Amino acid sequence: MIIKPKVRGFVCVTAHPAGCAAHVQQQIDLVKTKGPISPGPKKVLVIGASTGFGLSSRISATFGSGAATLGIFFERPSEEGRPATPGWYNTIAFTQAARAAGHYAANINGDAFSDDVKKQALEIIARDLGQVDLVVYSLASPRRTHPKTGAVHKSTLQPIGAPYTNKTVDTDKGIVNEITIPPADAAGIADTLAVMGGEDWEMWMQALLDAKLLAPGAIAISYTYIGPCHTWPIYRDGTIGGAKLDLERACRAIDAKLKAHGNGRALISVNKALVTQASSAIPVVPLYISILYKVMKAKGTHEGCIEQIQRLFATQLFNGKTAQLDPQGRIRIDDWEMRPEIQDEVAAIWPKVTTENLVELTDITGYRTEFLKMFGFGLPGIDYDAEIEPHLPML
Ligand code: NAD
Repeated sequence: MIIKPKVRGFVCVTAHPAGCAAHVQQQIDLVKTKGPISPGPKKVLVIGASTGFGLSSRISATFGSGAATLGIFFERPSEEGRPATPGWYNTIAFTQAARAAGHYAANINGDAFSDDVKKQALEIIARDLGQVDLVVYSLASPRRTHPKTGAVHKSTLQPIGAPYTNKTVDTDKGIVNEITIPPADAAGIADTLAVMGGEDWEMWMQALLDAKLLAPGAIAISYTYIGPCHTWPIYRDGTIGGAKLDLERACRAIDAKLKAHGNGRALISVNKALVTQASSAIPVVPLYISILYKVMKAKGTHEGCIEQIQRLFATQLFNGKTAQLDPQGRIRIDDWEMRPEIQDEVAAIWPKVTTENLVELTDITGYRTEFLKMFGFGLPGIDYDAEIEPHLPML
């Protein structure tokens, strides 16, 4: 099969296996270049391990400190005439590289919200790892079937209380226009909290504790976003922000349990806005990211997922370092994004951006490059005109 990008709105419906492998290898190389993280995590469960921040966490743990990892994700395999999703190919490439380097790597492709996947994970940890010393919870999902009630909750990306109007960009067509998003109703707010809030993270941690599969002193970490005031109505103060507040509540509850378990910790890291499959679906945010990339690249402070997580592990969580927390108790690895000189420039550019000057005033070009890279396109050394086998079995 010859696989080319097919972009439909904010998704690309194809993915290139060799390109995804090259993208994973770039991340592995970066972690190796930065040097060992010591002491670092040794036995790691990553929930949401196949793309974005979760994949970068898995790579940082394995290639930074030689960790054995169990990765959980929900990806679609290839079908007749259709390649698999990028997370499928990423995981195969990661697993091959980890095992070739002598590191244990096991995978579960299934619904992390379900009791069944939790049970499978507990069995694998008990059988192969004994206990885990780090749990990364990095799910981004549009829906959750609740394991106890069977209700299907769908998350929304909406403001709360009032409609929100702002500029947005169609990243595919390069058109800047205004968008008005109606406020969520009470059900939408509750559903988003059920999907992206902290209940499932608590369920995972309780199941691990009950089964005695958490090493004393273990760390649990999850990721959130805050960002600047341009995006607050749709993010921080919107339905997703409400869910993220619940994630912080869950973090405190888990932290209390882990403290009593050999002085472990639960933490939330506020990460930088980055092009991922999750963020490209949020209105307004891709325009913000395009401007942010322009400003941060000019200042030499731009980072991708792997640079963010490598820095998080090396300077906050491990390597003999102590996490520096903000007044709300969160790690701020979004510190470079939120520097006043960066945000002042973003705020100055924001009102000026139009369809006509989009390429000049923003890094929409870099946004598109990063977007396609997530699907394995535009990587150096890959012949995209060559036939490639799309049907790869999960390892
Ligand atoms: P992503 O879409 O790249 O990754 C999501 C992961 O979750 C994938 O591995 C996917 O397979 C997995 N997943 C989704 N539903 C699942 C299910 N039901 N069962 C098992 N696995 C499932 O997302 P991301 O942007 O890396 O987001 C990860 C976390 O980081 C989220 O909590 C997000 O809010 C947070 N975050 C993202 C940004 C950003 O700009 N992208 C910034 C700060 C924080």
